[in-house]
Amino acid sequence: MKVFLKTHGCRANQYDTEAVRGMLAQAGVEEVDSAADADYAVFNSCSVTSAAESDLRADVRRAARLNPSIRTVVMGCAPGVTKRDESRTPLATLPTIEGLVVGGDVAAVGAALGLAVPALHAPSAQTGSRALLRIQDGCDEHCTFCVTTNARGANRSRNADEIIDEAQRLSESHPEIVITGIHIGSYGLDNGSSLGELLGRLVAETDSVRYRLTSIEATEVDDRLADLLTGDSARVAPHLHAPLQSGSDRVLRRMGRNWYTASSYCDAVTKLASNRDVFALSGDVICGFPGETEDDHSATTDLVSSLPFTDLHVFQYSPRPGTAALRLDGPVPEHVASRRASELRALAATKASEYASRQAGRKADVIAIGRGSGLTEDYLSAAIADNRIARRDRFDATLEMVEGQLVAVPVPRWVE
Ligand code: SF4
Repeated sequence: MKVFLKTHGCRANQYDTEAVRGMLAQAGVEEVDSAADADYAVFNSCSVTSAAESDLRADVRRAARLNPSIRTVVMGCAPGVTKRDESRTPLATLPTIEGLVVGGDVAAVGAALGLAVPALHAPSAQTGSRALLRIQDGCDEHCTFCVTTNARGANRSRNADEIIDEAQRLSESHPEIVITGIHIGSYGLDNGSSLGELLGRLVAETDSVRYRLTSIEATEVDDRLADLLTGDSARVAPHLHAPLQSGSDRVLRRMGRNWYTASSYCDAVTKLASNRDVFALSGDVICGFPGETEDDHSATTDLVSSLPFTDLHVFQYSPRPGTAALRLDGPVPEHVASRRASELRALAATKASEYASRQAGRKADVIAIGRGSGLTEDYLSAAIADNRIARRDRFDATLEMVEGQLVAVPVPRWVE
């Protein structure tokens, strides 16, 4: 059997695809690079925006055209959303689709492929230079714009010992492990633990590997986690990605994000990121949410301006099936939402380049994520000024700014 794998969406999805890849390897199944050469295709889907779901559907149709005899399985979020989406052809009716699997249920994907893999175990190495480690699934919140919680269900934390065992094996092949999930800040709420406790154990029970957190709500960073994020950057990357979504409390309430306000967000990230020369602060913002006024938009740009962001992901509101936001009044015209998004992206780009420029001359802990390209502890991309450095190598470097591009010059002892 030959299987073609393709992933859409977030790191949690990418982790699940690596787990499927591990299952296929265990079953002795060959992975191929093109649907044209495959017996089966497995698409891991994203539904966070309408465009993301359209990309998936286009891929399924393309594979069917390329290879009409292919048998297709779709996993991820779209199978959990399609039931609520009267605006589109039901996913199950698309050409060649034989199986729909909600989320990252690897055993269910195996069954859909007709494979019986007795004892599934997570792969000890993944395809990326940095490894992904999903620690939980689902979310207990109900943001009015979000379809993910509909698709993935309530928060479910993985067993800590199982996570640590997997991290120990991954750390033998990967210099950095990226902690992911759907709502990682809620890790442990269902088993009496916490993300801070888990990360503390991961650092203590593995050697030298660096951990990086993916998206976490700013107000979910407790003191223990804050100490880890601002402590030994060789073990925990000094990087917080905290969704803001809006700088207007009125809009946050309409989004159903009632667990913080603009000022509590500001206090939480300022405590961590301010007065630190080396700290990556990034976030997400949605523009054009129903009812958003120019004053709301100004509140967002003012807040973003005032905080030490080093990167910002700016999205335009995307109406999603089965979400409460569909029933809200005050739709924002497309051209207005697009103009607001451009303004925020421009602001974010200025802040990012100002931060990068300030890093020239300093020492950095760099991981080679590809030949000639590296990633610093504070999530800066840097060209690597030595082609003896191989992918997945980790080295100390001095950062230099060369024609507007950061360059990591390895400290001599690392290359001799
Ligand atoms: S916190 Fe909100 S946006 Fe994030 S997954 Fe949960 S419901 Fe969706």
